[in-house]
Amino acid sequence: MQKAILDFSLPELTAILTLWGYPAYRARQVWEWLYRHKVTDFEAMRNLPAALRERLRAEFRLAALETVAELRSTDGETLKRLWKLPDGQLIEGVLMAYDDNRRTACISTQAGCAMGCVFCATGQMGFVRHLTVGEIVAQALEFARLLEAQGERLSNVVLMGMGEPLHNYEATLETITRLNDPHGLNIGQRHITLSTVGLVPQIRRFAEEGLQVGLAISLHAATNAERDALIPVNQRWPLGELMEAVRYYIQRTGRRVTFEWALIAGENDSESQAHKLGQLLQGLKCHVNLIPLNPTSGYGGRPSDAERVAAFQRVLRTYRVGSTVRVRRGVDIQAGCGQLKAQVSGVRTPPKPSSSQPGSE
Ligand code: SAH
Ligand code: SF4
Repeated sequence: MQKAILDFSLPELTAILTLWGYPAYRARQVWEWLYRHKVTDFEAMRNLPAALRERLRAEFRLAALETVAELRSTDGETLKRLWKLPDGQLIEGVLMAYDDNRRTACISTQAGCAMGCVFCATGQMGFVRHLTVGEIVAQALEFARLLEAQGERLSNVVLMGMGEPLHNYEATLETITRLNDPHGLNIGQRHITLSTVGLVPQIRRFAEEGLQVGLAISLHAATNAERDALIPVNQRWPLGELMEAVRYYIQRTGRRVTFEWALIAGENDSESQAHKLGQLLQGLKCHVNLIPLNPTSGYGGRPSDAERVAAFQRVLRTYRVGSTVRVRRGVDIQAGCGQLKAQVSGVRTPPKPSSSQPGSE
């Protein structure tokens, strides 16, 4: 099979083109066609010699993803795409529009996930494989293309789709570099957020990278016994070690960390649990994102009602811990948090690529 050109870094492409006898600036031109102009075809790379375009087409494939289905939420503000990878694996990404003009892509880093969090649809699938850098970046590229065709720009990326980004560490790091590249997608590091279940050694390593990327930690419980039951990884890296690593991240980066808490009725939404969370986070440079549980087929839990959510927030305020309730987006199209389970059933096929893929010149 041809190699995927999106899997190559600029230095790697430069080395290849040099080997073919082209000067380095040709690789930079290819790069800009890929990531700035976001073309979908080597033919569109108009300022390259025809022979080079030909060679690129012979050696590489440009498309990394095949759109299998597309769903739009009833409010029209959330779009989910289901993609097929060359080996047949299915992954999903979500694009969300906000009133303040933010356009946020939520993208996947793995097919399935090895972490097994009980309430998460991806966890319920089990681990299939890591995605390559090209497969991760291609998701953002697709959404950026779609937005640019309607005069808008992809402003934010969250690595919160299927999979655990820090389990696929190298590809995730290279993805961040690629998204951030001023000659390409040019998304500011502060507009990129990575969410992790809490892989302690990787959080410490990530703290050392000298990045200004947002970090979100999936907490969901404030005692080890309770967290063990929801998030199996807690047995390996319990709360004490996790909080030490988070403190280290804040100290190294100066960044405020977000803690995610899926509110499950009768499970982790009581006032006493809010007190425990308040005690755990008091004084820390952080913010809590409360997400009423999104239903999944493999877990019987229900979302907390508005009253419980408000009471939970009131308790947190007494510890001066700020919190927001995440607006539930795209629940009607199974695009909410943790619902990204690849399934073709019940989705309609998208319009022909000619109308949905402008931006290809
Ligand atoms: N693997 C990473 C990122 C992907 S999950 C992580 O776990 O952080 C993104 C967020 O959705 C996480 O905070 C996760 O705990 C949360 N989540 C998973 N399933 C959910 C569900 N059914 N309802 C609400 N949030 C859920
Ligand atoms: Fe994996 Fe995150 Fe789902 Fe846990 S919540 S199973 S880490 S994707």
